[in-house]
Amino acid sequence: MKALARPDVVPFIAAWSGEQQLDRTVVYSGHGGIAYADETPEDRDQYGVLWNGRAMARGTGRPLYGNVHPMRQRMAMQHLLCQVCGDPAGRDRLGVLWLIEDNRHDWKGWPNDLLTTHPPVCLPCAGKAVEMCPHLVDSYVAVRVRESDVCAVYGRMWSSSALGRPVKAGNADVVAFGTLAARWVLAGQLVRSLNGCTFVDLQRELARR
Ligand SMILES: [Zn+2]
Repeated sequence: MKALARPDVVPFIAAWSGEQQLDRTVVYSGHGGIAYADETPEDRDQYGVLWNGRAMARGTGRPLYGNVHPMRQRMAMQHLLCQVCGDPAGRDRLGVLWLIEDNRHDWKGWPNDLLTTHPPVCLPCAGKAVEMCPHLVDSYVAVRVRESDVCAVYGRMWSSSALGRPVKAGNADVVAFGTLAARWVLAGQLVRSLNGCTFVDLQRELARR
């Protein structure tokens, strides 16, 4: 899932070519599910889910716009930081600011109950994004979110095999914390559920600044 791209800025959550993906050996965990052969406590989040490793060297090499850095995405999502600049996301009495793809015909009440891997944004970055990419206005909506819970991860599933070691199984999926599947996922992004959502007029908010 792509970061919100701006031609002049490398988003905080984008990975760089100098941040090599760590090729770790995946083994069975003693508690069921998967583990790293050389696992350290930092490899899991507070819910016990195993995370995909990637070196941290922001700004090294060239930006990989389509690739989300697992640790920075997780940081932004956990602490509600702007996905573009990494500063705290915009927040007012209606809640935290999200710029999301407009799928309001998906269900009544959308985007309440929406699960997203995209972290929020700050008001200045939202303004600049729309300025740089005017088409965003047609395809994205600005939403203030009063309640959002970190509830799941997005990652690649693994499964047991006849080979004596776990193997990759299927595509990436959203996996809720506390489920059996959460022991078998290698997390790449943190997921929040959005609730208490209010559509806002971004231009009006920008004018009020
Ligand atoms: Zn920002």
